[in-house]
Order: sequence, then structure tokens, then C-alpha cells
Amino acid sequence: MDEFSPEQQNILSRFCTNVDKTTFGFINLPQVVCGALFSRYSRSTKSARRVLLEEFILNPEMKFDEIVGGGVSSSSSPSQLVATQKAESFYDRVLVGYGDDSVAELGGAHLACEEISNLATKFVQDARIGISPLEKSTRYVFFHQKDSNGNYRFYRGAELANDADYIRTCTMLFDTYVKLQAPLTIYLQKKYPKPNDGTTDRAYESTIKAKVCDLLRGLLPASTLTNTGLYGNGRAFEYLLTRMYSSDLPEMNRLAGDMQTELSKVIPSFVKRANDKHGVGTQEYWKSCRKNAAAESAKLGGSDNGASSNPVVPEVELIEYDERAEQNVCAAILFSSGQFDYASAKNKADSMPDAERLALLTSYVGIRGNRRHKPGRAFEHAHYTFAICGNFGQYRDLQRHRMLTQERQLLTCTWGYDVPKELSEAGLADEFEKAMQEAKVTYAKLLSSRGPALAQFVVPMAYRLRWYFHLSLREAFHLIELRSQPQGHEDYRRVAIKMHDEIKRVHLRLASFMKFVNRENVALERLESEKRIDEKLAKLRK
Ligand SMILES: Cc1cc2nc3c(=O)[nH]c(=O)nc-3n(C[C@H](O)[C@H](O)[C@H](O)COP(=O)(O)OP(=O)(O)OC[C@H]3O[C@@H](n4cnc5c(N)ncnc54)[C@H](O)[C@@H]3O)c2cc1C
Repeated sequence: MDEFSPEQQNILSRFCTNVDKTTFGFINLPQVVCGALFSRYSRSTKSARRVLLEEFILNPEMKFDEIVGGGVSSSSSPSQLVATQKAESFYDRVLVGYGDDSVAELGGAHLACEEISNLATKFVQDARIGISPLEKSTRYVFFHQKDSNGNYRFYRGAELANDADYIRTCTMLFDTYVKLQAPLTIYLQKKYPKPNDGTTDRAYESTIKAKVCDLLRGLLPASTLTNTGLYGNGRAFEYLLTRMYSSDLPEMNRLAGDMQTELSKVIPSFVKRANDKHGVGTQEYWKSCRKNAAAESAKLGGSDNGASSNPVVPEVELIEYDERAEQNVCAAILFSSGQFDYASAKNKADSMPDAERLALLTSYVGIRGNRRHKPGRAFEHAHYTFAICGNFGQYRDLQRHRMLTQERQLLTCTWGYDVPKELSEAGLADEFEKAMQEAKVTYAKLLSSRGPALAQFVVPMAYRLRWYFHLSLREAFHLIELRSQPQGHEDYRRVAIKMHDEIKRVHLRLASFMKFVNRENVALERLESEKRIDEKLAKLRK
């Protein structure tokens, strides 16, 4: 282990979580310096602390003092913003010799994007690698708070703000959302009185509120403003920004500019290419590919929005699966669990008797104690393609899965909408449906006046859209078992359960390893979770 003099230890202790162990973290350093440090480290025989000390801190050319401020031995903390700006040229100097694109993964940033439309959040959350988003939930908060001008919070960018139909319809949807809250709450309280089992008022009221939010979210238009927090690495942000700049939606282009400005204060070197000549080149490339593919698709009849065809589409349809899924999974198990070459593992898996194959699968999966006990990567050798037609609320939830391939079509009012059963039972469906019909009329007007991309903003979350999931069996375990849990929204639970049914239909044995698919009917989805929160709160108070 590298040893340092007391003086060196004193300097390093300001930047390292310890100076005498082989595992340590870096502190008080701008993100780009950490990136540059690891970059240099990968081409050096020295320990990371030694690189930091000798090549960065004590190397006058690096002007390290300027970056961290107050001298390396000072405990005063410099402004991170000033430090980051100074670190940029430092980073560039280091990277001249050692850079490759992946170095931008070595620093990250937390970014909050507020008052952005639900379409914008979906765009941002399409990022799969390197970005972790968390978004304001439509289940725990009502979305009808007005802004300082007394307007509901929905997207009012210049390209839509002067459209009277758009403004009127979005306002009407929010008005209906507000109007139905009280009668629906009263109905649910009558239907599900507070249980006499020690359930607290807090747990009960939170549960009813969550249910009201769940049942009414279908009224919220895609223009509804929300907040999302993102943590991501530089490379992922750069890619995301480039995609956003190339979008057909002006909101995305503006948001990309705002995000880049703020990220440049934290990880400037990592995101600067998103809109430089290379970034612009990539944006143009994507735009032209999109345009050309749409033109080719149109030639083949793909621009027909389906209005003339039967709009009754199945919610979940298994489009494609692998007939030889079991054999392929078994070959991967044999390969990774022993010393077979792959071709022999495949031959063995193909020729083994059925009972042996089952024994191999069973031993590989083992005894699963809970849904987090997931089978290994061999289960990524079976694939499924599902076509789904579900409401936008459903999609918003399910889109959050990243270990798969998924793409959606634009939001439209073509495929009908879902009216929650309990809204009908409460006698509130007419009001809801009236709002849906009015939104459809405005959607049609916007479609002809502003085009399909902008027309999406007025589509309420209850309307269905079409998307696909192409996923491995391993991700299917995760998605289906997680999304069938009783505390989830009933709409996405239904999709998860149907996906399980479909896999069971074609691969009964593989599907039987999914032991934690929950098909239980629950009336108050949040109640058990809320009761558990009460128990935890009581323990904390002790
Ligand atoms: C009951 C419930 C309530 C929710 N409430 C909210 C909410 O209020 N707000 C909100 O924004 N979202 C909410 N979500 C969505 C949730 O945060 C996840 O985005 C979503 O469930 C996808 O799960 P996942 O990340 O495990 O799955 P996937 O993206 O499919 O990933 C599969 C697995 O891969 C691994 N993985 C994938 N990406 C990463 C990564 N970047 N870093 C580390 N590991 C990774 C993890 O092990 C993960 O479980 C909720 C989900 C549920 C089920």
C-alpha cells in the first residue's frame, strides 16, 4: 500500500475520505477533476492518491490551488461554481493526452427540471443508461394548484399559448379534475369505511387520497406541468441533450438549452459537445433519419392514424417469442456454469431430455425467497415482443423500465380512453366522458392546425396510445413481479398480469419460475403500505 509522509497525509486528507486504507472516496473536488484524475490513473502505475498529490496538487502547471481555492491545506471551502470553471481548462489539459468518451461517465450532476410538461418528462425519461430520474407522482399530490396569474399549470409555450381552443380545453380538463374530487372522495369513504383494526386516520386518509388521485389522473392533459429530478453522468447527459436539441418539440429544444446552461456550471467539459459542431451534426443526422423513415412508412400506409380501422385493439398482445427459449437459456446456463465451449453447450441443451432440462433450469433458479431473488443472465437468452395499447397514465408508469427496448407512437385520441370502474360506480362517468369528448374535438383541430407533435399536448392521460416492449425473460421477471404488486395502480397491474399470462401460454415452465406475480384483488391499493409506514413511524418515536 502507498505510504505518505505526515505532511502529505495532511494535504490528502482534505480530498480523500481516508489516507491509510486501500478503499477510499474523493471529496471537495469538482466532478471534472475526479474524471480527469481517474482518466490519468488508468494510464499510470501510481495509486490514485499519488496521482492526485504529485501530478495534480503539486504540479504547478495544473494550477490546482486556483481550482480548489484557499490553498490545498486550507479547510475553507471554495465556491464549487468557481472551482468548476477553473477546473475546465485543467480537465482539458489532462484529457489532451488521456481522453476518451467514457471519461465523461466519471462525473455526474443532480439536476431539477421544474414546470415542464408531461411530454417533456417522458422524453427525458426515455434515457436508459446513466440517468436516474424521479418525478412528482400523480398519486400522492393533486395537480390543480394555480400559478400566480390564477391559471392552471399546463404548458403554455409560444407555439400553443395563443390557441384559444387549446387553453380552453386544458382549463376545462383541470376544472373537471377539481370538480370530481369531492364527490369521489365521499363515494370512496362510503364504499371503503375506515377499518376497525387500528388503522390510523393518517393511513386511511392518505389511502383514500391516493385512490382519488389514481382515479382522476386520466383527466390531466399531457401538457400538465410537473417536476422531475435527475441524477446522471456527463456522458449520458450529453447524449440526452443532443437528442433533446434534435426534437420536433420546441419545449424540448428550450429545455435542452436550459439544462445545458446549468450542467455547464457543474460538469462543463462533459456536456459541451451536445450543441457544438459535432452535436449539431448528430442532431441533423437524427432529424433526417426520422424524416426519411416516416416518409418510407407513409408510402407503405403507415401514416393512416387508424381512424378508419377498428379502434378496438387488445391491451396486451404477444407479437413474437422464441420457440427455442428453454434450449437457449439452458445453453447459456451450461456455458457460464462450467467449461463447455458455447457450441457444445448448445448441442447439449438441444439434445438433453426434457426432464434434465427442467432439472437444470430448476437448479439455476434455486429457491426464490422474494421477487428480488432474480435468476441470472442466462434468462436474458429468451426474448418477447409485446404490443401494448394502454392509457397514457399506464404508459407513464411502465415507460420507467430501462433494461429493455421500448418505443411509443405519438399520443392521439384514436384508440379510445379508459373510464375507471369506480368513477362509473360513483355516477361521475358522464362528466368524465364529456371532458374526453371535448378534448378529442380540440385534438382534431390542433392536429390539422399545428400538426401531430403539438396536438399531443391536449390529449388527456385516459386516452390510449400504442407502444411495444421488447424484453428478455430476466427483465420480464422484474417488470411483471414488481408491477403486479397490490400497491400499484390497477391499470399497470393489469398489463403486468396479462404479460405473465401470455408468457405462460407459450412458455409454461419458464413462466412458472415467476413466483411473485400477485393476482390478488385489492380494494384500497395503498392501505397496507400506509399501515407499514405507521408501524415504522411508531418505532422511530420510541
Ligand atoms: C409502487 C411504485 C411507486 C413508484 N413511485 C414513483 C414516484 O413517486 N416517482 C417516480 O419518479 N417514480 C416512481 N416509481 C417508479 C420507480 O422509481 C422506477 O423508475 C420504476 O419502478 C422502474 O424500476 P427499476 O428502476 O427497478 O426498473 P428497470 O429500469 O427496469 O431496471 C431493472 C433493474 O436494473 C437495475 N438498474 C437499472 N438502471 C439502473 C441504474 N441507472 N442504476 C442502478 N441500477 C439500475 C436495477 O437493479 C433495476 O431494478 C414507482 C414505482 C413503483 C413500483
